[in-house]
Amino acid sequence: MSDWSFETKLVHSGHQQDPDTGASELPVYQSVSFQHDSAQKISNVFHGKEFGYIYSRIGNPTVAAFEQRITAAESGLGTVAVSSGMAALSIIIEALTQVGDEIISSKSLFGGTYYLLQELVQTGRIKVRWVDTTDIASYKAAITSQTKGIFCESIGNPKLDVPNLTALSELAKKAGVPLVVDGTCSTPVLLNAKEAEIDIMWHSATKWIGGHGAAVGGLIVDTGRFQWSGFDNPMIQDLKGMGQLAFLARCRKLRSNRGCCLGPQDAFLLNLGIETMSLRVKQQCQNALALAKALQAHPAVASVSYPGLSDHPDHQVASQLFSDQFGAVLCVRLHDKAASFQFLDQLQLIKQLANLGDTCTLAVHPESTIYRNLSVDEQIQAGVYPDQVRLSVGIESIEDLIKDCQQSLDQLKQSS
Ligand code: PLP
Repeated sequence: MSDWSFETKLVHSGHQQDPDTGASELPVYQSVSFQHDSAQKISNVFHGKEFGYIYSRIGNPTVAAFEQRITAAESGLGTVAVSSGMAALSIIIEALTQVGDEIISSKSLFGGTYYLLQELVQTGRIKVRWVDTTDIASYKAAITSQTKGIFCESIGNPKLDVPNLTALSELAKKAGVPLVVDGTCSTPVLLNAKEAEIDIMWHSATKWIGGHGAAVGGLIVDTGRFQWSGFDNPMIQDLKGMGQLAFLARCRKLRSNRGCCLGPQDAFLLNLGIETMSLRVKQQCQNALALAKALQAHPAVASVSYPGLSDHPDHQVASQLFSDQFGAVLCVRLHDKAASFQFLDQLQLIKQLANLGDTCTLAVHPESTIYRNLSVDEQIQAGVYPDQVRLSVGIESIEDLIKDCQQSLDQLKQSS
């Protein structure tokens, strides 16, 4: 229901009870295809004259229930769930652009996003005009008649910069192009896609939405703000009969054609995870702020980057945008690469994992892993340094997290 509060939607939207059995948990419809009474009915479903499921690459009831929950949480028009965050981005770009079109993108991006955009440029598929995330004037200067979207992350991973999304939304509206935001690190808890006046929000559901590190998935949310009838793309205009649903319909078609559907078991796990997302993320934000402050106070630490710290350059923007919560990711620099490796290897509780958003606290050395294929200049633009460790803070006791980091840092001090 639309008047439910956010937390209620996370628990109740999409599925209440199975009409046949009364099962209260979302059933996992682990079926490739779906049977109908007659050849005419199957034909009608194929032609879109009657509602029904046909084949799980095209649509699946467990996945659809998860999509409905996300649409409710983001106050969106609709959601398309896909096999991963990267699949979500691939589909969005394919839906919005034709060969030779341009997008504007922030340089502060998750490594996989960077690699995908680089590949699309190298193969001549699109042109990317790169801008500094927080420099609104540079986005404005990059707009041309070929621009088909403005892309950024709500909190850059791992630079942790926060763009002024209100200003970007106004700019995109004036230019007549959608504002496309990767909301993975802010999560729907910190940032509601529609309220933030974003046109297309996408998420790696693999992270805080699932929260358990047990399933990979991606989400594309159309908030319903952008008027697709005037958008210059023949494939979307071909779906004009769908009205405002044209973009979602195009994404569904691409999901089916590319075969990057979300499996029903993964949809079930992600749908279960999101029920506790609000509680988890609030705790993770609190823990991250306390850990950032504790790390800042340690003599072995060169610097700590976290938008919740008052010395962070985007602290004010983040504070307004996210209502005084700042996410669960922080980065710490330790003077040199050897120290950062040693810090990681000496951790006893915190796990060394290249993931984010788990209930457990996770640590990784971005420069030698996710960002290894970027040039030094590109790494710096993305906020990646050889002496840096990225932490995704979990829901453990903050005392234990601080203790673990301190014992590892204390050993660094002794050996330096
Ligand atoms: N966006 C961000 C900010 C990420 O951190 C990641 C993965 O780490 C992705 C997108 C890609 O998501 P996935 O791994 O689900 O494809």
